[in-house]
Amino acid sequence: THPLGVDLAPSSGVRAFDAAAIRRDFPILSEHVHGKRLIWLDNAATTQKPRAVIERLDRYYEHENSNIHRAAHALAARSTDAYEAAREKVRRFLGAGSVEEIVFVRGATEAINLVAQAWGGRNIRAGDEIVVSWLEHHANIVPWQQLCARTGAKLKVAPVDDHGQVILEEYERLFTDRTRIASFTQVSNALGTVTPAAEMVAIAHRHGALALVDGAQAVSHMPVDVQVLGCDFYVFSGHKVFGPTGIGVLYGRKDVLDVMPPWQGGGNMIADVTFEKTVYQPAPSRFEAGTGNIADAVGLGAAIDYLDGIGMANIAAWEHELLGYASAGLLSIPGLRLIGTAAEKAGVLSFVIDGCPPIEIGKALDREGIAVRAGHHCAQPILRRFGVEATVRPSLALYNTREDIDALVDVLRRNHGARR
Ligand code: PLP
Repeated sequence: THPLGVDLAPSSGVRAFDAAAIRRDFPILSEHVHGKRLIWLDNAATTQKPRAVIERLDRYYEHENSNIHRAAHALAARSTDAYEAAREKVRRFLGAGSVEEIVFVRGATEAINLVAQAWGGRNIRAGDEIVVSWLEHHANIVPWQQLCARTGAKLKVAPVDDHGQVILEEYERLFTDRTRIASFTQVSNALGTVTPAAEMVAIAHRHGALALVDGAQAVSHMPVDVQVLGCDFYVFSGHKVFGPTGIGVLYGRKDVLDVMPPWQGGGNMIADVTFEKTVYQPAPSRFEAGTGNIADAVGLGAAIDYLDGIGMANIAAWEHELLGYASAGLLSIPGLRLIGTAAEKAGVLSFVIDGCPPIEIGKALDREGIAVRAGHHCAQPILRRFGVEATVRPSLALYNTREDIDALVDVLRRNHGARR
């Protein structure tokens, strides 16, 4: 048994998953708001941090802080080692073949912008096509729109069915010999749909296009292996996977990154500079201009260690059970409509209640200490596809419990269920 009380034996099932013990690793979960115990169900917006991450940041600043130029002095060697060790942890976490494929960025948004600008700038021409899905977060729409506006390329959108699932045949029908890249989410932040990402990558490849998978909402909920997915790019944000804000990851397949031009210029990304010519570093340094977010990369490494200690498969199993429990609880409330009823979902529940503005429901929950997001979730197209401008979105993480869900359902029933 893991020290956290998690039984790691695969046959043990989710009963052994001790969310109560895990909660004790997250100091903020002992907070009270409005005099009530905090119930954090806004994990799709950002996740809370385990003590291991908070203490790792302290240790970095107390004992290791330096810019990363290994040869300069003792602390520079420590910080460089810590930063590069974090890169190796990310490599393992994603199942990537080499640390040269792991680029540290600010977050998923920056990673997608990097690809749209650096790869897109070299490879997209007027008349080319870029495929996204209807499920995308604005971060996976706007950078491609901007690229299309600069180049004269065309953005094509794969539709979803009434459950919020990508319609694979329609997705495939969008590809032509002008399609250069497909960029889509692995888990929808607005509906929780898990997309058939590996199949979608394979379809893109069959048509000679590259594939970027937006893993921002996937990495905290399920094991990820970029080699199994087969994608050319994979992006995620540290803060959504129990790490710090301001750090994120772009995975890029080595042969793709090797021929990709840099996007920002400055220190760290160069091998040699004269006024006539600059020679760039190979990846990943070529894409990490200037002083990076060293401490938070180290903190992300600590978050990954923490998750490794529990096991992503155990987390996925626990959350699967919790999601089923939460769906049943919510559906017991009269007038409540779940938006997004895909067969495969992770982490997110999105709903509206007849006659109750989502923002008011969010406020009522907040008064009881329950944090959820109410709004458009930076994914307006998919909400409009379902005829709504906003939903209430409770979202789960490994530290949530049935008691959290019971409290949510109870407040909703008291405030809204009886009105009908
Ligand atoms: N993609 C998805 C699916 C997301 O849910 C988010 C954030 O909510 C992002 C991208 C953007 O992440 P960030 O704001 O951390 O860059």
